[in-house]
Amino acid sequence: MTTTKVQSTHQERTAFVYVRQSTPVQVMENRESTERQYRLRDCAIELGWPPSRVEVIDEDQGRSGSTAAHRTGFQRLATEVSLGKVGIVLMLEASRLARNNSDWYRLMEICGLSGTLIADEGGVYNPREPNDRLLLGVKGTISEAELFTLRTRLYEGRWNKARKGLLHFSLPVGYVQGAEGGWTLDPDTQVRARLDYLFECFRRHGVVRSVVRELKGQGLELPTRVAAQEGYGSLVWKAPTLGAVIRILHNPAYAGAYVYGRSEYSNLRRSPKTGKASAHVRSVDQWPVKITAHHPAYIGWEEFVKNQERLRQNWNHDENRGVPREGRALLQGIVYCGICGRKMRVQDRAAKENRSPSYVCGRGYDDGDEKICQSMTSRPIDAAVVEVFLGAVSPLSLRVAIPVLDQLEQDLIAQRRQQELQLEQARYEARLAQRQYDAVDPAHRLVAGELERRWNEKLERVGQLERTYAQAEQDAEWSLTKEERAAITRLSQDLPAIWSAETTTNQERKQLLRMAIESVQLDGMGQAGQIEMHIRWRSGTITDHVVKRPAPGEGSLKTPAEAVSQIHRMAGRNSYDEIAAQLNRAGLRSAFGRCFTTQQVGYICRRDGMAKRQPRCKSVPEENLDSSISKES
Ligand SMILES: [Zn+2]
Repeated sequence: MTTTKVQSTHQERTAFVYVRQSTPVQVMENRESTERQYRLRDCAIELGWPPSRVEVIDEDQGRSGSTAAHRTGFQRLATEVSLGKVGIVLMLEASRLARNNSDWYRLMEICGLSGTLIADEGGVYNPREPNDRLLLGVKGTISEAELFTLRTRLYEGRWNKARKGLLHFSLPVGYVQGAEGGWTLDPDTQVRARLDYLFECFRRHGVVRSVVRELKGQGLELPTRVAAQEGYGSLVWKAPTLGAVIRILHNPAYAGAYVYGRSEYSNLRRSPKTGKASAHVRSVDQWPVKITAHHPAYIGWEEFVKNQERLRQNWNHDENRGVPREGRALLQGIVYCGICGRKMRVQDRAAKENRSPSYVCGRGYDDGDEKICQSMTSRPIDAAVVEVFLGAVSPLSLRVAIPVLDQLEQDLIAQRRQQELQLEQARYEARLAQRQYDAVDPAHRLVAGELERRWNEKLERVGQLERTYAQAEQDAEWSLTKEERAAITRLSQDLPAIWSAETTTNQERKQLLRMAIESVQLDGMGQAGQIEMHIRWRSGTITDHVVKRPAPGEGSLKTPAEAVSQIHRMAGRNSYDEIAAQLNRAGLRSAFGRCFTTQQVGYICRRDGMAKRQPRCKSVPEENLDSSISKES
């Protein structure tokens, strides 16, 4: 290194060594280069800087980014240089310091202004000298061009491979790499059967949450591949979660397709934290690489597309029906506002409030209108719809019932198969553990003890599974006996009976309703005290109905009549306190089933006009009160 350019004015200031590898993997694996970078520190000392005035900036280790905005180390360096505190900046290559030319030139500019030298392994440069400046500029340009070609080559290579379906990425569970590098189905029968069962479940329920609930109810776990470095790629069974099921349903690999570029990364949206471009999911028809029938599939491509549509619909946006959910309001998802035409939503009440849900047209309000368009309680509307529906569809009943019954049987068979597989796996593991235990020398106590513990664990799991399945079998028994089956068939011929049966869930009721009804429109503003209802049937006809609006307070909780009349009788002579105490002694309770308080008695007296000249404190002696009550009661 030439040292003539280094003056004592430089040496009085600090020397900065800038160290950087862009990704954590590079930090781990590219040690050679890192070491070379750190060795620059010795160069600074050689050039005459005392070790105490050499500072290494390595905060940008493991940080990629083509601009300086998210590299705090580079920013700090630039600040220090511009403050005139830096005598020399040392780095390996220009590209390490600045990833694009504007950053590089900015740094050169401020180094020139503050009289700071720049050095790499090749030599020391003074940005104030025209020749050095030229050289530094060329170095910056070359390093940018080098990066650009490198990136283009890698990027193009990757896409090229992907377009041929040859780019490797970790396979989803249920697939393994075949001998020639292709994808084959997992040889583990249980894994395949469980995935089949999951897709079958979604076919039946159409709701991810129900799929998870069913799997959990059956004690069935989902296979996953370990992604952590330790045990990478090995198979583990985990309790099903919503996220896991959704990921499987969204993955086109299970439909036999090789897909690349499902997400696009735009420069416009970047994470404010890391500076990385954030992903935006493309729709199916915009996927740049899509090779169907690339490998064996679990479901057909049409079904995959249908599932995507279904998952999207379950978001329950304005334009689609969504699936029937569990709430009590029967028209959920198919009810529209008769005034503005928008979809109405259901406002459910807390169970303890004991009020029926309401249909509310609130989209306009969400969009900035001053108030909601209209709202009405669901009870009378639902009752009217059900009456019309049951009257209209009686010939439908058989066609509805028989598939339901067949489905029930099939479900049970599929469930049992899954349970048998899981049990078989557990038994196999227990046998394996036993063999390992048998094989070890009993004198080798430590190992034998550990193996015995593992064997016991496996046996315990077998026992636990056996118990769960025995219970599940027992629970399912009712639907299998011939008598029950006949009874259901009989019942199924009678839709009203099915409708009102206790075992019918609201979800099933809604499903039945939707078989006949496309949508319902409500208008509660046209006529005072009533709601106009237009039902659009799936057959295409529209029928009009009128529902009476319930009077305010109708159907709400009331204080029992007995208590009210007792209050009326005592109101003139006793204090609220005494009345409340007497009512409670007599075992009477308020509308909410709780003990009476002074305030409640006072409220009822005032409401019914009996509060005149009511003394605030006790006015009648205790014994008189008792006698007056006993006379009256
Ligand atoms: Zn409206």
